[in-house]
Amino acid sequence: MKRRRELLVTTLVVLAALLASLLLFVSQGFWNQQTNDAPDTIIHNGEIITMEQSPAQVQALAIRGESILAIGDESDILAMGGPSTHFIDLGGRTLLPGFIDSHSHHIGDRNYVNQSTPEEAIESVLSSGWTSISELFVNQDRLDELRTLDEEENLRIRVNAYLPLSWQFERFGDWYEAYQPGQEFSSKLRIAGVKIFMDSWFTDWLHYFDQIELESLVQEAHDAGYQIAIHSVVENATDIVLDTLEAVLGGESNQLYRHRIEHLVLLRDDQIDRMGSLGIIASFQLPWFNSDWIEAQSFPYLQDYSHLAGRWRDIVQAGIPSLGSTDFPWNLGEVRSAMRTLSMAVTRIGLQELTPLDWMLNQTLSVEQALRIMTIDAAYGTFQEDVKGSIRVGKLADFVVLSDNPLTVPESSLANIEVLMTIVGGVAEYTAPGQQFLSTVYVGASSQTVVGSGQIIKMEMVDRTRFELATTWTG
Ligand SMILES: [Zn+2]
Repeated sequence: MKRRRELLVTTLVVLAALLASLLLFVSQGFWNQQTNDAPDTIIHNGEIITMEQSPAQVQALAIRGESILAIGDESDILAMGGPSTHFIDLGGRTLLPGFIDSHSHHIGDRNYVNQSTPEEAIESVLSSGWTSISELFVNQDRLDELRTLDEEENLRIRVNAYLPLSWQFERFGDWYEAYQPGQEFSSKLRIAGVKIFMDSWFTDWLHYFDQIELESLVQEAHDAGYQIAIHSVVENATDIVLDTLEAVLGGESNQLYRHRIEHLVLLRDDQIDRMGSLGIIASFQLPWFNSDWIEAQSFPYLQDYSHLAGRWRDIVQAGIPSLGSTDFPWNLGEVRSAMRTLSMAVTRIGLQELTPLDWMLNQTLSVEQALRIMTIDAAYGTFQEDVKGSIRVGKLADFVVLSDNPLTVPESSLANIEVLMTIVGGVAEYTAPGQQFLSTVYVGASSQTVVGSGQIIKMEMVDRTRFELATTWTG
């Protein structure tokens, strides 16, 4: 009997233990499910400029995975936080969608600025405030390099690759068999289109194609479904490019194809009208034609054509879809900083801080106009306006944190705004020295105090999955 009772007790103990572990397992499952619904990161207490019509500005946003989960008021967003949510306290600083450099050679032409590895170039891109770049000359070697970086998760920024069909009188590319237009290797690397050089620079007026040759090249790429970016600097080259694009589009809207002309250094009124009616995208370089160019060698030549030169304001005001970029490193002073680029677009003041000439000042952009062509309008340039370029629920969590708000500082201070943090797909890929407190992490306590940027925030745990803002004070 005694033995039997022992057996019974043992059985009960085992059953109880099993039941207990089952309960624990179920409750943990529930717990995990609850915490999985919470944001990975909440960014709050800032001036968040969305680049959307409404709301144009919010105080806080939440991120889950690579995407924006919610935007809104400080208290609503903070209340979404869970025990594993990371909080970034902006301390009143400004956050914008990550900037998009629509025409550049940051990685491909890095040797020109003595950067030997692509990793160095990528770090510089991030610290300059760009989260996406278009590389406008990605040949096979460069594509292989980008794919390796991407596969090894070292790309860290989003790259749109444009594959060259020509360079001067040379032709390249059996691209159409190997790659699909818009092909995504990952969310970081994409084949955006092909690139053709119609001319060279405004000092030589040299054309590489006549109308018949250009049309056959463009038609082939168009029929293969590729977006086409055509380098065209001087006005008479642009006439041929516009004739070609008009013929190839055959009355269809360029909204479907998004063909673009690069540089457009010299442009007449009738060409602006024509680009507008065809919907051709204008891709121009914001660090060009600022006061540094007064002393540029080419200036005596430019002087005769200054009424046609660098007409960024006329292009934007005509409603032409526009992309503002650096063409890094191919600008005077190798300007890479997004804030310096913005400043040059708005003031036309160069690195030497000379006074711009009248024809330059006639073509300045407003801060709002310049920001658009570096964010949401730039995203349109690669068919990506639904996934990035503005801050909207569901879009990619690509952001830049700035020391000041470009919409409210004096124009003369734009170049001094610092990039404090660059976030790509919800990951803080760059944090400026001394700004590490921006990424303070607080996890799983019942009550916690965070000190950052002079603001102290106390969070109280409401239940196992929710914190609420209890107190906030400065100190
Ligand atoms: Zn270029």
